[in-house]
Amino acid sequence: MTPVLEARNLVRDYHVAGSLFGGGRTVHAVRDISFTLERGKTLAIVGESGSGKSTLARILTLIDRQTSGDLLIDGQTIDIGNGRIGAQLRRKVQIVFQNPYGSLNPRQKIGEVLMEPLKLNTDMPASERRQRAQEMLVKVGLGPEHFNRYPHMFSGGQRQRIAIARAIILNPDLLVLDEPVSALDLSVQAQILNLLADLQEEYNLTYVFISHDLSVVRYIADEVMVMYLGEAVEYGSREQVFAAPSHDYTKSLFAATPRADVDSIKARLARKAAELQT
Ligand code: ADP
Ligand code: MG
Repeated sequence: MTPVLEARNLVRDYHVAGSLFGGGRTVHAVRDISFTLERGKTLAIVGESGSGKSTLARILTLIDRQTSGDLLIDGQTIDIGNGRIGAQLRRKVQIVFQNPYGSLNPRQKIGEVLMEPLKLNTDMPASERRQRAQEMLVKVGLGPEHFNRYPHMFSGGQRQRIAIARAIILNPDLLVLDEPVSALDLSVQAQILNLLADLQEEYNLTYVFISHDLSVVRYIADEVMVMYLGEAVEYGSREQVFAAPSHDYTKSLFAATPRADVDSIKARLARKAAELQT
């Protein structure tokens, strides 16, 4: 089967200008990253701040262009060049950021937020757009009554639900989630993780899930990549990486993760599963 996403030796350098007195330099934000990701699977990318995760996310979602290396989506080499990306491709990959408030226009009602991608990328008539947006609200655990409300009227968790609804409204193949639960309370994190798991199952979505939190990664990942200073220092199945971290950085990362977080998320997920069965 053709992987949904393939990265071949991706590199991204930033040239940072110096001062009047010289001293410009190059930041190697992403160094030689390769992986393949099959449909319906989740690749978790872990690493501390500054390790290049968001830079990689921007390349994978066609927001930024790599310095070298190849990006393939559904087996096709993608070069965003300097031009605009076609609607067809735009629909395939979507991104969800850590802070949904930053990406929601405070003056735009939630219904409009959700209908906008449909307006820009499809020829759906207005009545259908409205219906689809209302359906998506329900899908992410909100209701049609939220349609005419503004972003400030929602909690952080609800805003992340809105961002997720907006990201999947065009039926993408791939969702890149850049620290989607990092700003949320632990109990809300678990709810959002559950929602993402449900949506993945229902739509056979492929996720790249970025996090600095191993307790979260443990729950959602099929495969794990650990980034350190722009490099993949670890890449394998979740079982492999968690059972036998090979790199010193990963070992220290694992040692620093409080066990309690893992147990509390595990307990919540188990409770939810039990609820669904009764
Ligand atoms: P992470 O998401 O893991 O915290 P980033 O991808 O944001 O890491 O950053 C990786 C490195 O690239 C950092 O050293 C950061 O300062 C640098 N960087 C990111 N974006 C830019 C930019 N637009 N210009 C210059 N340097 C950048
Ligand atoms: Mg980041």
